[in-house]
Amino acid sequence: MVGLADCNNFFVSCERTLNPDLENRAVVVLSNNDGCVVARSNEAKRAGIKMGQPAFQIKDRIRSGEIIALSGNHLLYREISIKVHDIFRRYAPKTLDYSVDEAFLIMDGIPDSQLRNIGEAISANCWDELHIPVTIGFAQSKTLAKIVSESCKKRGKRVGVLFDAKEAYPVMKKMSISDLWGIGRRLSKRLYTSGIYTIADFADKELGWIRATLGINGERSWRELHGEHCIELSHVQSSLQDSVSESRTFPEDVDDFDYIRARIAIYAADCCKKLRAMGGECKTIGVMLQTNRFHTERGIARPVGSINFDEPTSDTVQICNAAISILNSIFIQDIPFKRAGVWLSEIVPAKSVVPSLFDFQDSVKDKAVRSHLMKAIDSINLGPGLPVIKLASQITQGHPGHNDGYSSSFQAPHK
Ligand SMILES: [Mg+2]
Repeated sequence: MVGLADCNNFFVSCERTLNPDLENRAVVVLSNNDGCVVARSNEAKRAGIKMGQPAFQIKDRIRSGEIIALSGNHLLYREISIKVHDIFRRYAPKTLDYSVDEAFLIMDGIPDSQLRNIGEAISANCWDELHIPVTIGFAQSKTLAKIVSESCKKRGKRVGVLFDAKEAYPVMKKMSISDLWGIGRRLSKRLYTSGIYTIADFADKELGWIRATLGINGERSWRELHGEHCIELSHVQSSLQDSVSESRTFPEDVDDFDYIRARIAIYAADCCKKLRAMGGECKTIGVMLQTNRFHTERGIARPVGSINFDEPTSDTVQICNAAISILNSIFIQDIPFKRAGVWLSEIVPAKSVVPSLFDFQDSVKDKAVRSHLMKAIDSINLGPGLPVIKLASQITQGHPGHNDGYSSSFQAPHK
C-alpha cells in the first residue's frame, strides 16, 4: 500500500502558525508579484475564491476586509515544509517527497491493519507539533492514494484507507477528469470530446483505447485506477519543489555592507547549485535581512525585496547580480543585522523553458554557452564543502574576525 500525505491549504496554514488571528477567516496567499491567488483557506474556498484567480478581481473584497490577502513568505513555507516531511519520515519505511507540502509514503512491510493508526499518528503529530493540518490517503497505487486523500479533505476527514480499487468508484464518479493526477486541463479537453468527463468515465474505457489515444502515460494512469502500482515519480512531470532558500544567523550583529553582500552572494550561489541539481530554473529571487530580535530598543526591521526575471534562469552570475541589486535597495545604513537569507521561487523544469519573442538568436546561443559553464562549475564544485570556483562577490573583503560558521562548518574537499 502507498499513502499520500498532503498538507491542507499549506501556505495559509503556515501563515496561521505565525498569526492566530487568521483562524476562521477567509485568507488567501498571493503569488510573488501579488498577481494571483496561490493558496486559500477553507473559508476563502467557500467564499468562492478560485485557485489562480487574479487579485484585482477580488480587490474590493480585500479592501472591505472580507478576505485577507497575504504576500507569500517562502522562507517560512520552506522551513515548515522541512519539518513536516521529517514527521512523515518518522512513520513510513520510505517516503518520496513530491512537493513542498506532499509526500508519498511507501508502506512496504507494514500490515494493512496498522495503516489507519499510522495515518492518525502522522496527522496528530503534524498538528500538535507544527499546527499544520495534514490529510493522508492510503490505497494500492499513488493515483488512488491521491484520490482518497482528496476525497477525505472534502469530507473533513484526516485519514482514509482504501483496500479495494472498486470502492473508489463512487468518488471517481464525482471527480472531474481534470482532477486526475497527470491529466492536465489541456488533455482533459481532448477527453471531453470522447465523452470522458469524470475519472470514472476514464476508468470505464477499454485499456486499448486509452493506450491508442493517450500512450503510455494514459495507460499507467488507467492501470493505477484499477489498483495496479505503476507510476514512478520519474514518470510524472515536475515534482519540483516550489522554492529553494538559504539563510543564516550571523554570530553577532553586522552593519558592514561588504560582509553582508558577500553572505548574500554565497547564499544565492548555494541556492543556484540546489536549483540546477533539481533541474529547475526560477522566475523570482528574493532577499531578506533581519535585525536582532532580542535587541528591541531600536525596533525590529525585516526589509525584504524581490525581482522577477524576464525568463526563468538558473545562472549563478545573473542570480547573484540580482541578489546584490535587491540588497542595495533594501540595505539600511548604520542598522546592524543579525540574519540574512535568499530564496528562489516560481521554479519550473529547465527543459520546458521556451525562449521568448525577444530572445534573439544571440541570447539563445549565449544561454546555451552559459548553461555549459554552470554545468562545468557544478562538476568542479561537486559535493559539500567550500566551492573551488566562486564569484568575486562571494568573497568578503577585509573583514577579519567575522565568521558566521558558514565556511568553517564544512571541510574543503581533498582534491
Ligand atoms: Mg496540499
